[in-house]
Amino acid sequence: MLDCAIIGGGPAGLTAGLYATRGGLSNVVMFEKGMPGGQITQSSEIENYPGVTGEISGMDLMIPWPAQCQKFGLKHDMITVTRVSKEGDIFKIHKEDGTISEAYSVIVCTGSSPRRAGFAGEDELFGRGVSTCATCDGFFYRGKEVAVVGGGDTALEEALYLAKLCSKVYLIHRRDTFRSAPNTVERVKKTQNIEIILNSKPKEVYGDNMGVTGILVENSSGEIRDIKVPGVFTFVGNDINNQTLIQEDGSFLCEMNKNGEVVVDISMRTSTKGLFAAGDMRIAAPKQVVCAAGDGAVAALQAIAYVDELLNH
Ligand code: FAD
Ligand code: NAP
Repeated sequence: MLDCAIIGGGPAGLTAGLYATRGGLSNVVMFEKGMPGGQITQSSEIENYPGVTGEISGMDLMIPWPAQCQKFGLKHDMITVTRVSKEGDIFKIHKEDGTISEAYSVIVCTGSSPRRAGFAGEDELFGRGVSTCATCDGFFYRGKEVAVVGGGDTALEEALYLAKLCSKVYLIHRRDTFRSAPNTVERVKKTQNIEIILNSKPKEVYGDNMGVTGILVENSSGEIRDIKVPGVFTFVGNDINNQTLIQEDGSFLCEMNKNGEVVVDISMRTSTKGLFAAGDMRIAAPKQVVCAAGDGAVAALQAIAYVDELLNH
């Protein structure tokens, strides 16, 4: 019987593992389907993690994290978790090899995945000028022109953020009306250095060895416009990795919002006792490493208190 099962080994899961083991839980396993580190390991450069100065890749940032946790006793089971269920006070961790582990508490930190828009060159140039994170990468385009793809709240809010850093933002949307909140649309329309390009879709992003140099955009009449920019930001929706919480009858193990994010309180507690969620998968997540790590710490401290109450009181 595990004191705590952690599902996912990104910044949230690893920090939860550090705090849970160092905080006194004796039998803690982190179930991570691949190498620990999470999605930040795909980033070639991170410069907004506090205390880390100089050029550092996401991979370099994350390399010491697992060893630090293991020092305090965190175990890593490299396997995909298919489902988490609960019977009485006991959680069952169903794994892809058909085996089940049991735990008194669970911290789920399986993150989210930004959707790809599906135009030519997007995958090849991802991380070399194509980005899904303005907070992470916007700074690299200070004083330069960039393109933003999408018409939802994220695209418009990130376009406004980028407009403060960049000389010009081309906002490319496939329809003639935005999905975003009306007041956000108004703010975008009033922003002098945002050019709105409607009824248009990216056809191809192109570049050279150094990265993106431009994007070809096709409008509904089939006309192609060549926009020379070094950065293309796509915000076409996010998939929350919440599959492990789906039960056999199709319901979720805890309350979720309409976007599939886990509803938590300020202590990362879900609506199911003993189940915590941390990082990108929870409601209103800022989707940053430092925030995911903070969530993981909060969730672990709560799990320690929960297990103590369950077993000793
Ligand atoms: P994740 O990092 O997504 O980790 C989730 C983990 O769960 C993964 O390792 C996954 O393999 C595992 N997992 C998922 N499902 C299962 C399952 N069923 N069973 C077992 N394991 C599972 N943030 C910044 O602060 N600064 C930046 O500069 C920055 N740049 C970024 C650049 C890129 C290209 C990307 C993609 C993201 C960037 N981010 C940046 C965002 C940051 O990476 C995330 O906010 C952070 O990684 C979220 O941490 P997490 O632990 O919640 O989730
Ligand atoms: P979203 O609302 O799903 O919007 C995605 C946008 O991308 C849509 O405009 C869509 O176009 C476009 N798109 C989708 N696939 C595309 C493709 N292949 N090529 C080109 N364009 C494509 O996603 P989101 O903006 O990330 O928001 C997700 C949820 O979070 C929403 O409920 C949103 O309201 C919420 N949110 C709220 C706030 C806030 O309240 N401040 C901030 C951010 C997000 P169509 O419009 O034509 O479908």
